[in-house]
Amino acid sequence: MSLTSVAGVNIIGAGLAGSLLAILLGRRGFKVTVYERRPDPRLASANGGRSINLALAARGIRGLELAGVLDRVMPLATVMRGRMVHEHDGAAALQMYGVRPNEVIYSVSRAQLNRTLIEAAARLPNVTFSFDQLCLGLAHEKTVLEMRDEKNGRIYHTAAQPSIATDGAGSEVRDSLMAREVSTVREEPLDHDYKELTIPARDGKHVMEPNALHIWPRGGFMLIALPNLNGTFTATLFLARHGTNSFDELTSPDAVDGFFAREFPGAKVLMPEVPHEFFEHPQGSLGTVYTRGWHLGGDVLLLGDAAHAIVPFHGQGMNCAFEDCAELIRLMDRHQSWPGLFQAFEAERRPNTDAIAQMALENYVEMREAVLDDEYRKKKKEAEELERKDPNFIPRYSKVMFHPEISYTAALTR
Ligand SMILES: Cc1cc2nc3c(=O)[nH]c(=O)nc-3n(C[C@H](O)[C@H](O)[C@H](O)COP(=O)(O)OP(=O)(O)OC[C@H]3O[C@@H](n4cnc5c(N)ncnc54)[C@H](O)[C@@H]3O)c2cc1C
Repeated sequence: MSLTSVAGVNIIGAGLAGSLLAILLGRRGFKVTVYERRPDPRLASANGGRSINLALAARGIRGLELAGVLDRVMPLATVMRGRMVHEHDGAAALQMYGVRPNEVIYSVSRAQLNRTLIEAAARLPNVTFSFDQLCLGLAHEKTVLEMRDEKNGRIYHTAAQPSIATDGAGSEVRDSLMAREVSTVREEPLDHDYKELTIPARDGKHVMEPNALHIWPRGGFMLIALPNLNGTFTATLFLARHGTNSFDELTSPDAVDGFFAREFPGAKVLMPEVPHEFFEHPQGSLGTVYTRGWHLGGDVLLLGDAAHAIVPFHGQGMNCAFEDCAELIRLMDRHQSWPGLFQAFEAERRPNTDAIAQMALENYVEMREAVLDDEYRKKKKEAEELERKDPNFIPRYSKVMFHPEISYTAALTR
């Protein structure tokens, strides 16, 4: 089955990776059909989904550039030059992300980014979106996907040749590959959950430095906040599920109020609604998904979170998923058949996605704990000095965030 002999390519899931991939494959001339379980976000009111805003860095930017949509995305983004670390006594200091002016990351609304990508893909005449269509996984026959139309409950089958599953961390397609023993999956849940909260604007303006990612590190847990264009910040509390200082303890508005007054007094005054908002927003879980066997021959491929969900502490899940898309397209020039392409994709990407999974876990400790440590700060200053003097010296964080030409594996091992 050569790459060009197929009638079309299916994409399962019009999230961040699926919609970017639709543009890239569409621009390459493939007839693309994208199945998405949610309603069309261009018609429905925006639903933030798993997180309201995300940090976009160089690997993600490269994918957007390749798809020709960067100029549409950048107006949605707010630059973040460093981490503003808020200590318990109210002292706040900015730790710059890099030593060069272009070493910055961006905060971007997930919903707006997703909608922009869908709009760009839908403009291509050979890309079709089919919303409200839930994929139930592979049916018994080898190359057939079982689908359910969410508007009327109708179950139908669609040929899977070839299908790229970008249906996210809880992928149904991955489950069905696992059931067929094509994939083996190891899920490592984190014992910390998250909750998103709002820091409102004052007179339409940000109440803190807008061009920074704010962190209130407290050792075993932390609060972070990313700026939005409308003057608000989206804050995220990362906290253990059980034990002392845990979600289990926060069972009433008074308990939440007391916890914020004790642990985040500086942030609390900026979040008057927090005791009530806390109970209106869902408590999300986090974890790492390690999959071996990302493809069924040339019929089905897992990509993005469906293949390798990671914890969000390096701000790389989406960036990595966009890099997946760019790498798949790059490999198309070297492979004539779908099975060969999918095999090469897994061989090339899996060591890299394992590496970023590890670095993302390590970065949780750095964000909630190490940034407070004097020794860490001294080492960071020394590293910055070294970097200024020797352009060949690049710290690991910078390799991951600002140097897409350096692979995740190289960033981890060098
Ligand atoms: C709290 C939090 C903060 C994060 N912050 C960052 C960050 O700052 N930077 C960063 O790079 N990454 C971040 N991430 C990670 C990022 O959200 C993911 O890595 C990224 O969304 C992966 O894209 P994806 O397209 O693979 O999956 P998704 O974006 O989850 O898209 C999956 C799509 O598939 C659809 N779908 C699911 N199942 C089916 C089905 N059975 N049939 C049809 N459609 C289906 C879904 O509706 C969705 O549209 C964060 C994650 C979390 C949880």
